[in-house]
Amino acid sequence: MKKLKCSICKNQYSLEKKWLSEENTEGCVICDACYEKETKCDYCHRALTNEEKESPREDSDGDPMCESCYTEHYQETCPICEDYFDKATRADDYFFAITKSIADTGIQYNSKPMRPGIYRAFEWPMYFGNCVTGFEGFFSGSIELIKEIPLDGYEFCEEICHECVEKYTRLAKGGAA
Ligand SMILES: [Zn+2]
Ligand SMILES: [Zn+2]
Ligand SMILES: [Zn+2]
Repeated sequence: MKKLKCSICKNQYSLEKKWLSEENTEGCVICDACYEKETKCDYCHRALTNEEKESPREDSDGDPMCESCYTEHYQETCPICEDYFDKATRADDYFFAITKSIADTGIQYNSKPMRPGIYRAFEWPMYFGNCVTGFEGFFSGSIELIKEIPLDGYEFCEEICHECVEKYTRLAKGGAA
């Protein structure tokens, strides 16, 4: 019979009654008694590590989440700086980029060709489409160009982080002065 050492109480326990051992989110095994007492991620049900308990992540209902579930549900990789950031929870917090390659396809907004750059949203949903052709267009009045930049890359309508928005809008102000 396989004996395992609990990473919390350090006691040995056997797996005779269970198919699978419980683990914390870093894959350390935990005995049943300790698992019962631990704070668990509401999504994957693994016990949180000490580090995760020190700076706990919560979902919108205030339930505890582990770092990887939080990242999966609430974070996005910025297509510009490639850092993780918290996804917008409101439309007016949502910034996205139209790249040069997208603008070159002749995409229009309010019957005018779109310029590449950083846009912000006013409301969700901001665009319409269908399952056959995909994206068709933006709703009138749903978005605003805040800084024209000839961005490279192929990302389409991906949310970008506030740090990049700040960086580019600051450049805009500097250029105007
Ligand atoms: Zn234990
Ligand atoms: Zn989790
Ligand atoms: Zn960024």
